[in-house]
Amino acid sequence: MGWQSLYIYALTSLHMNGYAMNTKGYAALSAGADLVSYEFDRRDVGVNDVELDIKFAGICHSDIHQAKEEWGPAIFPMVPGHEIAGIVTSIGSGVTKFKVGDHIGVGVFVDSCRKCEQCLNGLQNYCAEGMTGTYNGYERDGKTVAMGGYSNRFVINQDYAVHIPANLPLDGVAPLLCAGITLWSPLKHWNAKAGMKVAVMGLGGLGHMGVKFAVALGAEVTVLSHSPSKEADARAMGAHHFVSTKDPENFKAIAKSFDLILNTVSAELVIEDYLNLLKQDGTLVIIGLPGKPYSVNAGTLLGARRSMAGSMIGGMPELQEMLDFCGKHNILSDVEVINADYINEAYDRTIASDVKYRFVIDATTF
Ligand code: NAP
Ligand code: ZN
Ligand code: ZN
Repeated sequence: MGWQSLYIYALTSLHMNGYAMNTKGYAALSAGADLVSYEFDRRDVGVNDVELDIKFAGICHSDIHQAKEEWGPAIFPMVPGHEIAGIVTSIGSGVTKFKVGDHIGVGVFVDSCRKCEQCLNGLQNYCAEGMTGTYNGYERDGKTVAMGGYSNRFVINQDYAVHIPANLPLDGVAPLLCAGITLWSPLKHWNAKAGMKVAVMGLGGLGHMGVKFAVALGAEVTVLSHSPSKEADARAMGAHHFVSTKDPENFKAIAKSFDLILNTVSAELVIEDYLNLLKQDGTLVIIGLPGKPYSVNAGTLLGARRSMAGSMIGGMPELQEMLDFCGKHNILSDVEVINADYINEAYDRTIASDVKYRFVIDATTF
């Protein structure tokens, strides 16, 4: 065949077969719509890129907030998912960190400016230019819409992916890429250790990882939950105490008793009730993000030199440190593995606090 015939042959076969997209996933096509099967293209593997077969993708409550536009205007179609665990299938010529067959994780961001003080200190999550989110944003070229982990394959720059210890199963690991690091980082920053009283508000995806880590770091751990039925699970995870927040009377008995409170609750609540549970010099860290402001009485803070702080995921070195810790101590998320066509029900159940304790999608079902 001459080049003209080859060209015509190629055009005809493309036309007849339709253009094949290289990635299959699930997307929300508009705010609040049910997620549906969706095909799209990811970029070719660049010099410093790693390609992975996604095995499991966790469902974070942040996915739900964004797919429902609870955090402000979002970009659609949206392929959510920032708890990604998979296996490397190919690498670019400049990749030294990974090889084909490695177990690899991708979390909440896929890039950052790499030059600001935060990036240079390994806190890319607080990048001065803003981290480049795994989805619902633009990549650093300013025009490619980032597509997340509810899909069968991913391409990422090697600097923004982590090694998953080979002894850990990938389904229980996936949630560590967001839920895990988001609780690990504040526990390390506020130095959770033996002799410290730590409370975790909300026993969901984030909260249950907070309990496991705080226990492993030696703290005395209390779960503050509005679901009394979760008490046995909380104790099985190692929590020393469980307090139902449904009964206002229960708050009195634990007033002024915690050094550190980690608030992972996804819904609005009266934060004053919880600030009063801090000892002198205690800190309440806001992690849950319902999207509405909190009202705080200054007297509650200054009357006992209390702090209210915030924490957002963690940087790349912390992410690797947390996974290595999990590999060593065999710490995993408690997961319910689902098929892709169950995502919408999983969203409803997560909103209803009916998740034990993270939904994880089997990526072979996309
Ligand atoms: P999740 O699995 O749904 O867990 C949230 C938990 O909050 C529920 O299991 C429930 O625990 C409690 N809760 C829910 N509704 C409540 C209500 N009306 N009153 C009192 N408690 C309620 O969610 P998640 O994935 O862990 O995420 C939690 C929050 O953190 C979300 O807002 C998410 O966007 C945010 N987040 C923040 C970061 C960050 O970097 N800061 C990272 C990831 C996620 P009980 O049943 O035990 O009460
Ligand atoms: Zn998340
Ligand atoms: Zn930066």
